[in-house]
Amino acid sequence: MYPRFRKAGYQAIDRICDYHGSLRGRPVSSQVEPGYLRKALPSSAPTEGEDFQLIADDYQKHIIPGLTHWQHPSFFAYFPTSSTFEGILAELYASSTSNPGFNWSASPACTELEAVVMDWTAQILGLDKAFYNISEVGGGVIQTSASDSVLVATVAARSRYIREHPHVAMEDLVLYITTQTHSLGKKAALVLGLKVHTLQVTAQDDFALRGDTLKVALEEDVKAGFHPFILIGTVGTTSSGAVDRLDEIADVAKHYPFLWLHVDAAWAGVAFVCPEYREAYQLPAINNYVDSFCTNFHKWGLIHVDGSCLWVRHRRHLSDALDVTPEFLRSKHGDAATAIDYRNWHLGLGRRFRSLKFWFALRTRGVNGFQKYITDCIRLNARFAQCIYESDLFSVVTKPSLAMTVFRMAPKSLPHLGASELNALNRAFYARLAARSDIAITQTDLNGVFCVRMVIGAEQTVEGDIEQALVLMKEEAVVLVRNWEGIGGRRGRKAYVVPSQSH
Ligand SMILES: *Cc1c(COP(=O)(O)O)cnc(C)c1O
Repeated sequence: MYPRFRKAGYQAIDRICDYHGSLRGRPVSSQVEPGYLRKALPSSAPTEGEDFQLIADDYQKHIIPGLTHWQHPSFFAYFPTSSTFEGILAELYASSTSNPGFNWSASPACTELEAVVMDWTAQILGLDKAFYNISEVGGGVIQTSASDSVLVATVAARSRYIREHPHVAMEDLVLYITTQTHSLGKKAALVLGLKVHTLQVTAQDDFALRGDTLKVALEEDVKAGFHPFILIGTVGTTSSGAVDRLDEIADVAKHYPFLWLHVDAAWAGVAFVCPEYREAYQLPAINNYVDSFCTNFHKWGLIHVDGSCLWVRHRRHLSDALDVTPEFLRSKHGDAATAIDYRNWHLGLGRRFRSLKFWFALRTRGVNGFQKYITDCIRLNARFAQCIYESDLFSVVTKPSLAMTVFRMAPKSLPHLGASELNALNRAFYARLAARSDIAITQTDLNGVFCVRMVIGAEQTVEGDIEQALVLMKEEAVVLVRNWEGIGGRRGRKAYVVPSQSH
């Protein structure tokens, strides 16, 4: 059995290396049609086991063509999900032990390594020691996604609130988000049956939540008999990389001691590894005030999916909300005693051994390697944004945020276009980019303004890839401007109406 394993294993590693080495030559987005795979595969599993070589070859033949290559140097869509080769190997080791590490006894190394790497990551981000596991008061845990992190925080916040206010009806509880909060806020409310109040943010404030907006909402809601118990703030919103004014928010929230502040920094939070971004992206307020903080190392943190990090200031709120320990799961090393019981820090029981890839990646890159990766991406984005600022065809919509630029067509040769004409033009522009296989990029809508988001994060991306992206964007934009000038006026508008696409 084992010699056969070895051969297949060597081949798999070779092919993985070849895959990464050949990315630049591939189309970045998949060209397949919906349903392509069902057509290609048999309708049921084989009765007898098959030769592994056949299976490995079918992966190359059927699966790879259906992949969007997120590590491709021209991938600028959504958010990056970077990785390291050592992290990939860690995943192989982790799956080779196949264990659900839900408590210390279930596999001591899993719990202990997670507690250690979560302290390492807290340290490299500059989080306050209150969030370290070694504090035995706060602590960090790896979740599957930022959405799970919010769900856990909301459950903990709700149970704290209800404990303090036992007569409050569930239907009077309110969760606060803003118009720019990721859909995870509404999803948490949906799952938990909670009311959501959506606070308004404006373009003038760069789409950041301000303290005054929160203050007014809290006063009105409390007067109306509601019980706001959690606010989901964001550092680096999905649409535009906006940063809520956590300093102002904390100032208001201190008058509401049971309003839980959760900060979702799924993408941007990893940038705290570079001390120069800590102040502007609100780390001081996070350290001094918030109850929980989440960042996805599986986005911009060189850890492949999944690895969402959640830190809480008071771990007992998690256990108080989520510990339903039946006798057979009680061990003499439970939370209260010597070890963390991670099963009480997330929604499931069993959990993947994800800390291993953090450990491998942190050790092979070191803090310097993480910093270099982040600053390289930010430098490339600054270069891109500079070209947009200088262009006669495009303009920047919001202030570039870290490695993200939100921009749109605003041709100087067509100065009289109205808001809806500009939106139509930009939808057409985006549709042309989306149809290409040599770039992956996504769109957004900021209070009715249709725009394109460029996010840099693939490790293979270099300056030449940014130049190439600019060249093809200009190509597409020039065609549209020419058509518009050719068709002209009202008739032109019609030519640009394309169906809107969802995110
Ligand atoms: C990507 C992103 C999310 C979603 O993260 P998941 O881990 O997929 O749930 C949430 N919030 C922000 C700000 C994001 O950038």
